[in-house]
Amino acid sequence: MELIKAQRGTQDILPGNSERWQAVEEVMRDEAAVNGISEIRTPVFEDTRLFQRSVGETTDVVQKEMYTFEDKGGRSVTLKPEGTAGAVRSYLEHGLYNSPAPQKFYYLTPCYRYEKAQAGRLREFHQFGVELFGTSLPLADAGLIAFANGLFDRLCVKNLKLKINSIGCPTCRAEYTKALKTYFTERKDRLCETCRSRLDRNPMRILDCKEPGCAEAAKGAPRILDYLCGDCKAHFEGVKSALDSIQIEYEVDPSIVRGLDYYTRTVFEFVSADLGAQSTVCGGGRYDGLVEEMGGKPTPALGFALGIERLLMIMEAQQIEFPEPHPCELYIASVGEAARKRAFQMACGLRECSVAAACDEVGRSLNAQMKYADKLGAQFTLVLGDDELEKGLGVVKNMKTGEKTKVNLNNDIEGQFAAISTRAEDEEDLSF
Ligand code: ATP
Ligand code: MG
Repeated sequence: MELIKAQRGTQDILPGNSERWQAVEEVMRDEAAVNGISEIRTPVFEDTRLFQRSVGETTDVVQKEMYTFEDKGGRSVTLKPEGTAGAVRSYLEHGLYNSPAPQKFYYLTPCYRYEKAQAGRLREFHQFGVELFGTSLPLADAGLIAFANGLFDRLCVKNLKLKINSIGCPTCRAEYTKALKTYFTERKDRLCETCRSRLDRNPMRILDCKEPGCAEAAKGAPRILDYLCGDCKAHFEGVKSALDSIQIEYEVDPSIVRGLDYYTRTVFEFVSADLGAQSTVCGGGRYDGLVEEMGGKPTPALGFALGIERLLMIMEAQQIEFPEPHPCELYIASVGEAARKRAFQMACGLRECSVAAACDEVGRSLNAQMKYADKLGAQFTLVLGDDELEKGLGVVKNMKTGEKTKVNLNNDIEGQFAAISTRAEDEEDLSF
């Protein structure tokens, strides 16, 4: 029979790798807690109109990349291509604005985009995202950037470049878009086909195009920073000085425009040379108009999303050490039927006390059990045979140091093992 394979652009996260996912997710949850950011979980599919309205009709995501289908009730639904739209919908639907501002949320979610699958670009990928509602102060922008920066630090990720820009408010952007349109219309024949169609819809996106011809044509294009209104300019200065005050390095890059329509004022990206063509690992910014656009009261807001696959690619390239998972703390080997039964009982008792204990479950020889314990990475082993059962005495061996400790098999094995393993833990050095 033909084997059915996983869909193009999707990945299985297998044992051995899933521990890495868990490790970074744990750091994310932990850092969020320290920053007073609560988790929000929204459905994987939503009314298609939600994304059309929030992400924007003219964006690549809505035009080309959405997984949209009709459900059995004839409704058009879409698998979430990003996390902000659902978060904003939920914020409005449940009146989360009634709690004191700023309201801070994070999510860890799969996202779906029908893209040309390649390294760092998948059809199902995962984002860690943060959304803050109800603050227009520049220090909120700087605080959000500092949060992302701190996360990378905590994960020991190096050599990231932070690029920031301001794309202004609808007022100053209108002026700018006009200038940009004029500029690119004069250079239309050098643009790729996509960018020619962007000329009318969304000329700012041309600045972001990676086609050599477009990048060449974009050199010397009008800069948004020269078109910012007084308020937007002051806001951007405020963000920069707040970043300076906490020693976060950045580069102002007027070509950072972001792909989604809802951004206003501050936009930023963390880019890495360890990613190849898909160099952006984290992107975000302000979206002061979105909540109102979605039917709420005018509410300043901002956020970012970080691609977990790309983050792990960087960590891999930088050979960052992950915390060693300990799938097995104590392997209780046994010789003979009676000992196997006793090992089973002991392992169950230890697991009740949260010790990752294992014993023979397939009827292996002692030799094969010891090899298996080694494969499991067991930190300690204990061998039970008739002799041990008779005397009620066993020896726990530290597999790393070879140190042996006698244990009384008939009395509080959990307590005795806890003492042994705590001692060993103190001597271990930890990674992130
Ligand atoms: P790109 O320029 O790479 O297409 P984007 O502007 O579409 O990115 P965002 O919508 O801002 O990306 O998403 C935030 C982050 O999510 C990206 O920086 C990236 O890390 C990750 N991401 C986006 N699309 C994909 C994808 N198809 N596969 C893997 N990760 C992705
Ligand atoms: Mg994209």
